[in-house]
Amino acid sequence: MKFVYPEMIVGYKPSDIPQDVHETLIRTMNAVNKLGEDYPSPMAAKRGWRSKEDNAKAGGVDTSPHLTGHAFDIVDPGQKLALWCCKNPAKLEACGLFMEDPAMTVGINMPWCHLQIREAKSGTIFRPFPYTQKQEDESLAWWKAHNLKRPF
Ligand SMILES: [Zn+2]
Repeated sequence: MKFVYPEMIVGYKPSDIPQDVHETLIRTMNAVNKLGEDYPSPMAAKRGWRSKEDNAKAGGVDTSPHLTGHAFDIVDPGQKLALWCCKNPAKLEACGLFMEDPAMTVGINMPWCHLQIREAKSGTIFRPFPYTQKQEDESLAWWKAHNLKRPF
């Protein structure tokens, strides 16, 4: 199973995509497709590129890697993909991918897994922004609940 370019720009037309973003989106797609060769289950797209306007409406930070094509979100029922990545960080590294702390992508109705090719300061599995005490507590509780050691 491989993602194709239209899944990177769901909700947009190819002509909406800035030229410099286009190539980055393809690199991101290729990295995720490489991970998909190892991941034993199907994956479904949630979001790749997002415009500045839509990002602002959704309350996203203006440094979001979704704006530049460096990030791709995968729908992740039961956080199966995120948990697999937590247990196999070397697979992410081999694809040049970084994953956001899954504690922050639980969602309200459906979890997602945020993968990006932009290097993250806190490591392969990273803290996406400075946490409030509440977020820090939620994050630590997530890792504890899954019997995993938080890597950052
Ligand atoms: Zn994302």
